[in-house]
Amino acid sequence: MADLDDLYREMILDHSRNPRNFRSNEAAAGIAHGNNPLCGDRVSVFVDLDGDSIRDISFQGSGCAICTASASLMTQALKGATRRRAQFLFENVHHMLTDGKLPHPEVELGKLHVLEGVREFPIRVKCATLPWHTFHSALTRGSEIVSTE
Ligand code: ZN
Repeated sequence: MADLDDLYREMILDHSRNPRNFRSNEAAAGIAHGNNPLCGDRVSVFVDLDGDSIRDISFQGSGCAICTASASLMTQALKGATRRRAQFLFENVHHMLTDGKLPHPEVELGKLHVLEGVREFPIRVKCATLPWHTFHSALTRGSEIVSTE
């Protein structure tokens, strides 16, 4: 499995160095700001809906490699998704990073699997989940500040 680990590490580095959908969108319907004081990660997530689907999602901020890669992968996974699919992916990612038991195994994690190894480093789990909690807040409550503490 060492090769797979290397591949995953490469993908995380790639997404942290060249984050996708890394831009602000102050006109977005849903905006939330997340803060992980444990590591110093800060991330803002911008979500625009088209009916029940996520038409656009982007993020900005300054986070560590894990946080930035998680946010980048998240925007790719959620763009075009329905609210329901986004909710299920959010729950799957949260469990993948904590107890490893996916509540919605029928909803494929795809590339998000590269984050699974973070589970072995409990102090970094919040780095990876911060963008997701921030997204969730932007989607469900419009505008809010999220803190992992
Ligand atoms: Zn971090």
